[in-house]
Amino acid sequence: MDLSRRDFIVSSSAAAAGAVSPAQAQAPVQLAQAGGGAPSPRGFDPADPALKYELVIANGDVLDPSQKLRGKRDIGIRYGQIAAIAPSIPADRAVQRIDVAGKLVTPGLVDLHTHLCPHLGLGLPADELVGITCTTTAVSAGDAGWHTWGVFRHLALANSRTRLFSFVHIASIGLAGGLAPGEMLNIEYANVDGCAKVVAENPDTVLGVKVRITDSVVGQNGLEPLRRAIRAAEMAGKGVRVMCHIGAAPGNLADLLNLLRPGDVLTHAYSGAGNNTVQNGQLLPAARAAKQRGVIIDVGHGGGSFDFTVCEPAMQQGMPPDTISSDIHSVSINTPGYPTLPWVMSKFLALGMSLEDVVARATVEPAKIIGRVPGLGTLQVGAPADLAIMELVSGPVEFVDTRNNKRTGQQKLMPYLTIRGGRPFGRPPLPTPFVY
Ligand SMILES: [Zn+2]
Repeated sequence: MDLSRRDFIVSSSAAAAGAVSPAQAQAPVQLAQAGGGAPSPRGFDPADPALKYELVIANGDVLDPSQKLRGKRDIGIRYGQIAAIAPSIPADRAVQRIDVAGKLVTPGLVDLHTHLCPHLGLGLPADELVGITCTTTAVSAGDAGWHTWGVFRHLALANSRTRLFSFVHIASIGLAGGLAPGEMLNIEYANVDGCAKVVAENPDTVLGVKVRITDSVVGQNGLEPLRRAIRAAEMAGKGVRVMCHIGAAPGNLADLLNLLRPGDVLTHAYSGAGNNTVQNGQLLPAARAAKQRGVIIDVGHGGGSFDFTVCEPAMQQGMPPDTISSDIHSVSINTPGYPTLPWVMSKFLALGMSLEDVVARATVEPAKIIGRVPGLGTLQVGAPADLAIMELVSGPVEFVDTRNNKRTGQQKLMPYLTIRGGRPFGRPPLPTPFVY
């Protein structure tokens, strides 16, 4: 295949055709550098023995899968970055100190599938949810299309302390209409050139193209919205991903799965809405093949897209999740499945995944998919000082999926405090300038 062609935006006339050959559709995506590279401290020398910290998070049970680190640590923060992570930091080196003894401290949670654009459709205000999500970085899964992009860029992103990224919907109206009518009932909304333009113009923020392939969303249009989404992603440049939602998809699900390229994201991978990745108890070979060639397997719990009876055999038969995400929006958050990210993570603890693996799939792994911020999803020195502080509560707890299946777990993650860029939500920092 010819990778170089993706370095350029091709002409709009070629784009408007919207057609894509199978060979193009299956071409591998050249991924951005994992994690956005190594962090390097700005404005201080972490080796300076007299270095003062604006904030120290003390005595936490620190878990950072990116460093294979678990243990009691103090975390020093300066200039919005992790400045030290040590068994003990003297109290006189901290301007502000918060003792979190007994609490779990992880990198701020990174949620690959959310709807946090309150001005469009299903969206919620990101910062308002932090108290129940511990989420410091979130990806808007197609709330905006190219006609509504400015709403996301200038209202949601510009007004959120939460770090926001986005997939641009292949439908020009995005999800402005909410759950119905389906945004792809009229294929004319799927303007390849317009979508590619927005993606290419906003590489700092946009990860790729979103498409929903469900009967009620696409009507008679079958997989054509997905083909156009892939075409728009290929036009927009190297490493541009497609996030494809499934759930009661039309036709043979293998046809859809075979279109996804390495690096593309399959979200709602464990949906039980019909035409599932597990049928008659068996993981579809095309689903296993997608995972094996590097398609990202994403949870996207939501209000109707997570089924224990799909997830369990899929995990056993070769399709565990790469990323755990919530699909939190104004409808899903009011359902019994309660898809806040810590609650969805707790369900995977109940399914037998280790705490380290669960945290990795909601921090450093989605941060690699984002690939734009050095150190994101880690607690390495020089990384953004984004922290999730949770209580790991032991005791029987019942979880319900989106199809009323229940499972009992023995632990749950309960949000306690969230810090973004060195500043705790809900706890004002000390007045500046600091006096040392
Ligand atoms: Zn969604």
